[in-house]
Amino acid sequence: MICTLCTTTQLEHGTLCPACTRDTLDRLQRLPRMWLSLEAWLTPGSNGPAQYGGRARMAEAPMPLVQEVLDLRAAGGIVGVLEDWRDAVHHTRGLPIPARVGSLWHRLAHAAGELEEQIYFIALWEQGGELGRELRRLVDRVRAVVQPGRALDEPPAPTFLGYCVAADPDGIVCGTKLFADMTRPVQCTWCLCPYPPDSWLALRQLQPGRPQPAGPEVGEREPTAA
Ligand SMILES: [Zn+2]
Ligand SMILES: [Zn+2]
Repeated sequence: MICTLCTTTQLEHGTLCPACTRDTLDRLQRLPRMWLSLEAWLTPGSNGPAQYGGRARMAEAPMPLVQEVLDLRAAGGIVGVLEDWRDAVHHTRGLPIPARVGSLWHRLAHAAGELEEQIYFIALWEQGGELGRELRRLVDRVRAVVQPGRALDEPPAPTFLGYCVAADPDGIVCGTKLFADMTRPVQCTWCLCPYPPDSWLALRQLQPGRPQPAGPEVGEREPTAA
């Protein structure tokens, strides 16, 4: 028997090798966070958060990707795929099938949590490989939005967001390099200014050497307390 997901590791029993089981569990834990982070890609032209001036227009929002983001965040997207698998696992094991009620976030968090609880069953299940492949495809689709051009399941390359724009009380700008990360909150490693995903496009507008967006407040902002 060979692992049905990586199709390289020999197995004594079951369908997923330990590494693929870990990867599948990792994706189950990451997908809800990714679903939340994708919201930042849904609001091209919206205002940045107040601490970045609020007036910096997200002129560089990747418009063609918005449909993909909508698809991923819709009921049939990440949420539906996880719920379908949760139902299939529960059906196979004779467990109750939960009703699909409440907000999409609520449904997603539940389905992901219930699948996590079944990870040892999934590793032995004949459909474990297919489940693992579908989760991998979802993560890849999110990554393709966030980092266009990245290949299947590559570890994410750090995407340079820009230089930290927080200034100290003397007006000296921090200037530390910031890198995108969809798996944890982005924060300046030097001054600890937080940069949530919905600030990244605004951050780009505030980079040194870029034409400043209209608005008297930009450039006069107080440093953001960490
Ligand atoms: Zn494997
Ligand atoms: Zn900083």
